[in-house]
Amino acid sequence: MVKICCIGAGYVGGPTMAVIALKCPFIEVTVVDISVSRIDAWNSEQLPIYEPGLEDVVKQCRGKNLFFSCDVEKHVGEADIVFVSVNTPTKTQGLGAGKAADLTYWESAARMIADVSKSDKIVVEKSTVPVKTAEAIEKILTHNSDGINFQILSNPEFLAEGTAIQDLLTPNRVLIGGRETPEGIKAIEKLKNVYANWVPVESILCTNLWSAELSKLAANAFLAQRISSVNAISALCEATGADISEVSHSVGTDTRIGPKFLNASVGFGGSCFQKDILNLVYICECNGLPEVANYWKHIIRINDYQKSRFVNRVVSSMFNTASGKKIAILGFAFKKDTGDTRETPAIDVCKGLLGEKANLSIYDPQVSADHIERDLSTEKFDWDHPAHLQPMSPTAIKQVRVEWDAYEATKDAHGLCFLTEWDEFKKLDFQRIYNDMQRPSFVFDGRNIVDAVKLRRIGFIVYSVGKPLDP
Ligand code: NAD
Repeated sequence: MVKICCIGAGYVGGPTMAVIALKCPFIEVTVVDISVSRIDAWNSEQLPIYEPGLEDVVKQCRGKNLFFSCDVEKHVGEADIVFVSVNTPTKTQGLGAGKAADLTYWESAARMIADVSKSDKIVVEKSTVPVKTAEAIEKILTHNSDGINFQILSNPEFLAEGTAIQDLLTPNRVLIGGRETPEGIKAIEKLKNVYANWVPVESILCTNLWSAELSKLAANAFLAQRISSVNAISALCEATGADISEVSHSVGTDTRIGPKFLNASVGFGGSCFQKDILNLVYICECNGLPEVANYWKHIIRINDYQKSRFVNRVVSSMFNTASGKKIAILGFAFKKDTGDTRETPAIDVCKGLLGEKANLSIYDPQVSADHIERDLSTEKFDWDHPAHLQPMSPTAIKQVRVEWDAYEATKDAHGLCFLTEWDEFKKLDFQRIYNDMQRPSFVFDGRNIVDAVKLRRIGFIVYSVGKPLDP
């Protein structure tokens, strides 16, 4: 039986391996992690991450051919194929701080693989890494082991949180990069055979190592760029009376552009877009391409601008002061159908409003009070000025209440902000909310999910991103 081990039981490692186990019952898959609490959660009824369909897949395979363990060395040592899906955050200190990827976890995983390996292995980069990382990993592995043949493959993950299981079951493509040597080609074939159990072979793209590594960074940069492009146009819509929905539709019907990913919003978030663009910026700078680096930097600048524009709109609409006013925040996760709050725009928006001395009442169906309070009291890392960490003032956090219900959060509020596009928010009883809010009652729709015409009829003053203001 082929044995696969995945180092890192996070948002990528867990779901990816669960789907491999589901589709390849003849492969034994073990996901290992140094975090005991994460592994305990994977082995329990309460999985450590929320992802539609995940529980079902895990239940079908766990204990049969899918295992979660903290015994990292044992399972890595026994595996034929080792996926590495550890976190690769942005460096916060030292050379490249604020931009470069921190490969500390990756390097320690690679050294451990070299230490415990007694037989030849395929080592698969699942984490998103800078282009040329495989070269460094090859050096670490070969210099730290005796006569063992390691083949490094790059197999970046393109799943999106919230639709991870669907994306893994029917991926647009699977990308495998490897060395163009006979051993490299054999390794590519071996991994290709795993995916070919459910992915059509024409959707499995094989490239050289550096193309695969760079493709992942480029794909995320293109996706984020689309969001920043539409958000930049949304600012112009607000200034001119154009409507971003009409503009996006008109632009997106051009088949060269296409309609997807053209929704204006309060900005993108998540653990990947900003981190991967910064990583790309750093690689461009290291390769003597400052103009290219600046080009990509602006994608993040526009995103930051969109978040601060939203905060300014809230404050200026409420007669230029939010001080002492209750503002309900509906949605804290970076997108719907996930409990992930990494780099969520809600953090910056809430911090901006707390800086204006507003009182916040927050509700998200998947994010706990502890989690929200932790996010809001954590120092903000400023990628543009990495030396500056802005600590949250201890008094500001006292201005935050986390509620378990949207109606409770909006009671007596002066304003209501939608920051995540949860489906349940579209079905709220807005008449009831209006009855319980202060007058005038403001709605700031950071995701353009509500029917502004209907809400205005009730009596709300509504701001939607990139749309004409209240008549
Ligand atoms: P994560 O933080 O959820 O999970 C990483 C896990 O690795 C953690 O549980 C950590 O404890 C574990 N780990 C770190 N060092 C380890 C070691 N030496 N041994 C064992 N376990 C170790 O991260 P994630 O969101 O799953 O992302 C993982 C990688 O995949 C990142 O490079 C990310 O950029 C990339 N990625 C993420 C997504 C996404 O949507 N989250 C999508 C595509 C790619």
